[in-house]
Amino acid sequence: MSEEQKAAVYKPVTRAVVDELKRIIDGQYVLVDDEEKLKEYSHDEVAEEMYHGLPEVVVKPNSTEEIAAIMKLANRENIPVTPQGAKSGLSGGGVPVMGGILLSMERMNRILEIDRTNMMAIAEPGIITNDFSAAVEKEGLFFAGYPMSLLTCYLGGNVAENAGGGKAIKYGVTSRYILGLEVVLPSGEVAFYGGKRVKDVTGYNMVQLMVGSEGTLGIFTKIIVKLIPLPKAKTDMMVLFEDLETAIDVVPRIMTEVGITPTGIEFMDRLTLETSCKHLGESLEQYKNAGAFLIIEVDGNDEERVLNECLDIGEFCTENGAIDAFVAHTPSDQEKIWKLRRNAAEAFKAISPRQTLEDIVVPMSEIPKVLPVLEDLSNKYDVFIPCYGHAGDGNLHATVVKNPDHSEDQWLEILPKVLADLYSEIHRLGGTISGEHGIGNKRKQFLPLVLGETEIESMKSIKRALDPNNVLNPGKIFDL
Ligand SMILES: Cc1cc2nc3c(=O)[nH]c(=O)nc-3n(C[C@H](O)[C@H](O)[C@H](O)COP(=O)(O)OP(=O)(O)OC[C@H]3O[C@@H](n4cnc5c(N)ncnc54)[C@H](O)[C@@H]3O)c2cc1C
Repeated sequence: MSEEQKAAVYKPVTRAVVDELKRIIDGQYVLVDDEEKLKEYSHDEVAEEMYHGLPEVVVKPNSTEEIAAIMKLANRENIPVTPQGAKSGLSGGGVPVMGGILLSMERMNRILEIDRTNMMAIAEPGIITNDFSAAVEKEGLFFAGYPMSLLTCYLGGNVAENAGGGKAIKYGVTSRYILGLEVVLPSGEVAFYGGKRVKDVTGYNMVQLMVGSEGTLGIFTKIIVKLIPLPKAKTDMMVLFEDLETAIDVVPRIMTEVGITPTGIEFMDRLTLETSCKHLGESLEQYKNAGAFLIIEVDGNDEERVLNECLDIGEFCTENGAIDAFVAHTPSDQEKIWKLRRNAAEAFKAISPRQTLEDIVVPMSEIPKVLPVLEDLSNKYDVFIPCYGHAGDGNLHATVVKNPDHSEDQWLEILPKVLADLYSEIHRLGGTISGEHGIGNKRKQFLPLVLGETEIESMKSIKRALDPNNVLNPGKIFDL
């Protein structure tokens, strides 16, 4: 949307509005005029500048009441408000594309309660996911959400994106663990949906409507998280394969034929491993000439049983084409393996900023069919498409990387075509365009490729009902 179009829809943040914001929250937490500071809030981890947007003012509230007052002001003045977490998003969801007020959740980072009897915790949205996990682990409890960005992302961002990650295959995604939410609605009213209840069918399931709503339906201010007992044992394994096809082929069979559901099965091709090793200064020697790698984690309560399950999986893999399988016995070996995987996205970004990290997801049975699709597209458009991801749940991070021989104009012309072809093929396999990173502003143009008019219209009706003035995070998921 051009600046003129924005101005036709929304009002600017005037001095009077800034003064009012400074009356709502402590003035030192209202950033305005300093373009360098505002720029820090103008993007998430999507590198392309076309998906960035400068806020007119950044506010850092510290309470539900402050956020409610800000939303009331925004409605009255017709100013867009964008909630933002740790900016680790990969779809532009927390980017203020319409300008206006950027609502950073960074100060709302407290754990309010860890309730061991009910195995639940209540936390604010700005807590770093890893800090939350570490705090509940001290109490012998476990938060099974495990996005690879856990060292930086916030719990609120995880809820808004319904984050998945490395443990989804066994434990599911974030939504499974969210039982209650305090939400500031776009109108500025405060609602509390759900509670510390494992069962609740009292009216619509508003908690699950809010989860994954990408900051477009309400701003979470308190989150009730269901916890489970902390597994006492875990083992990780790195399995080496000659080629991608053989590695991917064994993934669903580990569950259907060996009969074990690992905690996670992550997949990397050779290029990804090499890039990650280089980025971290690690040697490649031990990985031989393998072309593809599976990182497999098994957890449980009995150390011996966990190890035996790992060995069974290793044996099955070697009987079915694996070159080698290494079990990581010590926590430092385990961390070494996971570090390679966690740093894959960062490593690619460092060597080639002109790339797009995709988040396609297909039913497990279709995983082997994705690789030929990527190969065909790579040949058709003469681009590189390395691939890694959460193979165990069908969520693959194919990364379309600009060919250095292509000009910038060529890249910009080719990219939407590659993505449209990729998404259409994935849809044909029963898959969709995002398994965990969301639509945001990056993928909204492609939504009609995978959702029909009826589906999109029903989503728009919900948005209109809760946010009639379209002030909360406009320009995300779809345009109204
Ligand atoms: C290296 C790397 C690895 C990653 N690995 C994974 C992975 O394994 N799995 C996965 O799912 N994702 C992954 N991601 C993506 C990203 O980390 C997740 O989407 C994460 O949940 C975003 O959290 P955030 O706090 O950074 O939110 P942001 O990026 O700041 O915002 C994300 C969305 O949340 C909304 N939001 C934030 N706070 C609130 C709130 N309090 N109320 C309402 N809406 C809110 C924003 O408006 C926006 O729409 C990865 C990203 C990187 C860079």
